[in-house]
Parts: sequence; structure tokens; C-alpha cells
Amino acid sequence: MWVRLFNSSTLLLFISIAFVTHGFAQATTVRFVDGQGETLADVEPILHDDKIFLPVDILISVFDSQLKPEFHRPRKKLTLRTKGKVIRLQIGNPSVSIDSGKQTFTLSEPPRVLQGQPMLPVVFFTEILPKIDDVEVQYNSNLQRIRILPKTAWERQTTDETREWKIIIDPGHGGDDEIGSQSQNGLLEKDIVLKVAKQIQLQGNQDGYSILLTRNEDVSTPRIRRVQFSNQNQGQLFISLHCNTSYSPNHKGIRIYLNNPNGLLRCRQRPIPLLGKESLNILTQDDFINQSKNFAKVLQKEMNFLIEDPIEISELPLISLSDVYMTAVQIELGYLSNLDDVTRLSNSEHITQMVDAIVRAIQIYSVAVRTPSEPDETPPEDSTDSP
Ligand SMILES: [Zn+2]
Repeated sequence: MWVRLFNSSTLLLFISIAFVTHGFAQATTVRFVDGQGETLADVEPILHDDKIFLPVDILISVFDSQLKPEFHRPRKKLTLRTKGKVIRLQIGNPSVSIDSGKQTFTLSEPPRVLQGQPMLPVVFFTEILPKIDDVEVQYNSNLQRIRILPKTAWERQTTDETREWKIIIDPGHGGDDEIGSQSQNGLLEKDIVLKVAKQIQLQGNQDGYSILLTRNEDVSTPRIRRVQFSNQNQGQLFISLHCNTSYSPNHKGIRIYLNNPNGLLRCRQRPIPLLGKESLNILTQDDFINQSKNFAKVLQKEMNFLIEDPIEISELPLISLSDVYMTAVQIELGYLSNLDDVTRLSNSEHITQMVDAIVRAIQIYSVAVRTPSEPDETPPEDSTDSP
């Protein structure tokens, strides 16, 4: 009994220390990145009451090289002239006035003077910059990254054509027998992927897309049913959601897979015709390899912001995607065998950010493709050379 108690409290202590150290280490630098994920600047923040503050001058490197900050120290007034607008702030006051009160906003955290210099809270960047210019600002509090990207790149420009789009989200596994992978603390793959799928459906539907799920609850769903459902609904996009596991506890991160019969694995099972129609022998995912690659790249760009290591795209002969007749990818949301990934996948803020990134990728891709009838219906001339 003593041994058990000692062990569990030691473990708890260890986890707390690791967490605090990790949190501290993360706050030593804030990285600004652009829409492509390229680093714009690394800046040292100052922590005040557990809130992060950034020097005013960083705006010149990451937002507007012409910006002119003026700080009137005795009156504690900070004026920023940028993009043809005048932004007035007062130290210790959460109000922000743009163009002499034409627009006013209240920040949840006021600007402060810290270590002798005027500093802006992160909310200034996330909330005020989009009011000044056509930009969207994303903040990843786990990695301390701020992404500034042109609004037009991902604005919810759902067109009439994209409204007709059907997107199939395929949460892997399900039911008592197919739990998928499992973390040491009991987090189940089947539950995580269903949670993410439902959030994508909710958010995508709000944006005017028709999002269908291959399973809506914790039930076993054979692959053949998932594929039939997707093809019969004539979806334009198929996204299968899974989690990874590895014998190495060091393997971690998000990975994106697409089906390529000429990919790395050579021992491919040939897809089984599903509906008993001859035509299905030739209507395979192979016709969509380029579209799937394009979508995978969009996803990669949007999701890279969420995790430390760059996301890899792997091309494999994937039986789970091979019979889906539309653009299709599989996202492995993280490794349930890795402690960092388990923490990440248990964090609802991170789940929401992943959902945001996936929905944004759907928007960007669907707007870029524009043509709902694409690709054309002509089957490939020769289907005999597939392995
Ligand atoms: Zn899986």
C-alpha cells in the first residue's frame, strides 16, 4: 500500500514539474509566422500575471514596416499610425480607439509598461489587427505561435457551387470491438475521431457545406459500408480520421496519408469490387491522386500551425481510401503512444483548433477547385496496369 501511494504521488509530482517547466520553456519565445507557415519573427515576451506581453516594435516586422509608434511617457499614451489609420491606446486602459473614436474596442487585457517599455497583450494582435487590415490572426497558446495571414486566403467565401459540395468525414473504428489505438490513460482513438468528426460537421454545416459522417455514434461500421455510403452520396471530398500508435514513445505529431498504389508499400491488397458493378473495378481512388495530393498540401499548410514538427504527407497503397471515388485523405491526428500527443488530444482548445484548420482547408480547397462536377467522368483508358 505504502509503495503504491509513494509511487503515485511521485508520479504526480513529476508530471507537475514537467508541466510547469514545459510551460515556462514555451513562453520564452513567441514566433510569428505568415500564411505559408514561414517565420516572420521570433520575439521575447514579458510575462505579467501569467499573461504574455509583446513589445510594440514587433508590429513593424510582422505587420507594417511603415508603422510609427509614438509613446508619450508622462501621459502614458501610445499612438500607432498604420495602414492609414491612427490607433490610440492608454497604458493600463483596455479601450482602443481607431481614427479618433470612429471605432472603439475593449481588450480583455490592457497594454502595460513592463521593464520600462510599452508592451501589448496578445489579444491586441488577435483582435485589433484584423480591424485595421484585411488579415486574420491565429494564436496557438501551446506553442506560442501567432499566424498572420491575408483574410482573402481563407475567408469564408462559400459560393453557390461549394454549397453543393458534399464532404464525407469518416471517423475510424467504432463499437466495442474496434476501439482503434488506446493511450495508457484510457483515451480511445474511436472516441477522439468521432468527437473531431462531429465538430467538423457542426462547423462545416454552419459554413454552408453538406458534411456527412460515415458513422454518427459509437458503432462498428465495416469499411465496405463506409465506402458505399460515400460513393452513393457522391461526395467531393473524403476525410478519414484516425490516431496513430507506435512502439517508440518518441513518435509523435499529425500525419497525412493518401492512397497511391505505387506508394511505399509493395504488398498491396487489391481493392475488392464493392457494389457488384463492373464499373467499380475502374472507378477507384487512383483517378484522384492529383486532387488528393493538392488537398493534402492545403491541409498540411493549415495544420502545421498546430504542432511543433512539420507534418509529413505519406503516399501509400491504403485500402481504407482505395475504393473511395473522390478526393480523399487520411489524417492521423496524433500518436496515442506519445505523452505529448495524448495531452494535446485531451485539450479541447487544441481539438477546436484542429477542427478550424480542417474546415479552413476544406474552404480553401473547395473555393480553389470551383467546379463541382470535376473531375470528368471518363474512366481511365487502361485499368489493367494497376498492381
Ligand atoms: Zn485507426
